[in-house]
Amino acid sequence: MSDRAEAETFTGSFTQQEPLPEAAIAAALRVMQHGRLHRYNTAEGEIAETALLEEEFAAFTGAKYCLAVASGGYALGCALRALGIGPGDPVLTNAFTLAPVPGAIAALGATPVFVETTEALTIDMDDLAAKAPGAKALLLSHMRGHICDMDRLMAVCDAAGLPVVEDCAHTMGAAWKGVPSGRHGVMGCYSTQTYKHMNSGEGGLIVSDDADLMARAILLSGSYMLYPRHRAAPPPEAFEAVRYLTPNVSGRMDNLRAAILRPQLADLPRQCARWNALYRVMEAGLAGTPGLRLIERPAGEDYVASSFQFLLPDWPAGRVRALLARAAARGVELKWFGAAEPQGFTSRHESWRYAPAQQLPATDRILAGLIDLRLPLTFSEADVAFIARILREEVAAVFQSGEELAEAPAAD
Ligand SMILES: *Cc1c(COP(=O)(O)O)cnc(C)c1O
Repeated sequence: MSDRAEAETFTGSFTQQEPLPEAAIAAALRVMQHGRLHRYNTAEGEIAETALLEEEFAAFTGAKYCLAVASGGYALGCALRALGIGPGDPVLTNAFTLAPVPGAIAALGATPVFVETTEALTIDMDDLAAKAPGAKALLLSHMRGHICDMDRLMAVCDAAGLPVVEDCAHTMGAAWKGVPSGRHGVMGCYSTQTYKHMNSGEGGLIVSDDADLMARAILLSGSYMLYPRHRAAPPPEAFEAVRYLTPNVSGRMDNLRAAILRPQLADLPRQCARWNALYRVMEAGLAGTPGLRLIERPAGEDYVASSFQFLLPDWPAGRVRALLARAAARGVELKWFGAAEPQGFTSRHESWRYAPAQQLPATDRILAGLIDLRLPLTFSEADVAFIARILREEVAAVFQSGEELAEAPAAD
């Protein structure tokens, strides 16, 4: 590596988020000062922060109802449970997703059935149509913010009578042909975990227009029959038929998290625009790099990019490892979905052994060359242009030399 000794190195952190806005910190202090953190602990005439957040997020997505919960993973499980998914039920989901998605299915005793992935990193419609008969639901993951043709997807699922739950952990604020992500299926689920678009450490949101499903979800989340204190909720009549039949699986959000999320929600459109500006700088910086393919973004998609993906089509594993090592030496942290062992947040379907093993050759081919990097808002556009320049140089060097690295780079 002596020839690289004087190469420029990036020194920023790929996992450093921005501090919370002052308004969120002030709101958190108010909740801590009055001490009523539990969502149903309200003073006379007071409306809980959690109930207000639900109202505001329902308005943001255009949904009738919203429920705030403890995590994005809890939201997924709660939505599936509200739909009546139970032991042995086959539930379709994307083969390219994150572990909490198949995990939510398996945790109910249901069986995750994986659907193949296209080069746009979205669900393969033909494989979906082929696997739909007999399935109980589709848990659709908009993985890394890539949105499939939602009109076509809903046509396939409607024809098969398949309810769709949307995992919008990476599409909060995004839309397909003007319809917010999370509003095509019967329920949309979001995460407010630190690495998503709003940060409360942990947290989740569920939206729906379906009164029966939302009544069940509210009861499931642990409402102790205090559901009349919700605001973005169906009327009390919707709870009558299910209130004694729905088990409590406590997973409520608290007022402290809701308080720090409300100012962030008000600022979300501006933050989304900032993420997309970083994305476009990276896209322009990498365009035309030999050996590297950018992911096409369809015209109907309004994305919110907090991360960036590109493909190294049909690169041998050793060559990808060589690139990862060279990028790391210059301070650029890449994640590779083709790695044999799961690293941090990136794992692949073979690692989810609570699901039956499945043949997914198209997905395997894509993941073998799929590289992922975060673009936190602590990066400036100049930072991202610099990262793109480093990547461009290193991809070109490895692609032209055919260099390969036998061993995985040592873990830090
Ligand atoms: C983060 C994430 C989730 C779950 O969110 P948590 O809040 O961490 O439980 C679900 N799906 C995807 C694709 C995610 O990235």
